Amino acid sequence: MTRILASTLTALTASLALLMSGCASLAPTSAPPPPQPQPPSPPIVAVDAWGGQSLAVPAPELTHRIRRITVHHQGEVWPAAQRPDDTPTAYLQRLQSWSRLSKRWTDIPYHYVIAPDGRIYATRDPAARGDTNTEYDPSGHALVMLMGNFEVQEPTAAQLGAATELLVWLARQHGLTADAIASHRDFSQQTVCPGRALYAQLPALREAVRKRLH
Ligand SMILES: [Zn+2]
Repeated sequence: MTRILASTLTALTASLALLMSGCASLAPTSAPPPPQPQPPSPPIVAVDAWGGQSLAVPAPELTHRIRRITVHHQGEVWPAAQRPDDTPTAYLQRLQSWSRLSKRWTDIPYHYVIAPDGRIYATRDPAARGDTNTEYDPSGHALVMLMGNFEVQEPTAAQLGAATELLVWLARQHGLTADAIASHRDFSQQTVCPGRALYAQLPALREAVRKRLH
């Protein structure tokens, strides 16, 4: 018994020495720290997949560090009466053209857009600060827009569910708490955005995110 144990120990010590010498010879002493695991993202439709134009890496003066998440609405009833067959992808293509050609912004002002069916679309590169027609400075804000006019209609359950998933992911990614979530009208006197019905959902959204972050 003792002899077996001793020989096993000898074998183990030998393998350990081999392993350690292997490690020492393979791993450089100045090995970089392992990358932090990224939190899993909800399904997000990429810009190329909705027919948008992906833009180049933002200019350094447009980059920012995300410290807040700010919720918006489209501000137009979806679907519009004059376009009953409109699709979110066609709308996003028009929005991108308008943003760039009429407004002379670098891109769609929001970083993410959520359609009534709960699909999340990537729009502006989150590394670039957003844009606004109102007086607040969107630097440091991740901008999330839900399609519809929530002064006169209700966000769908699918939209609210997707918003929760997106907000949880953004909060994890940027090291934020649920208290970092607010809406456009919390920063601007010039707007009712995100509309009465969505504004009323903000405390519940924040609470849902808070629960998920713990
Ligand atoms: Zn807004």
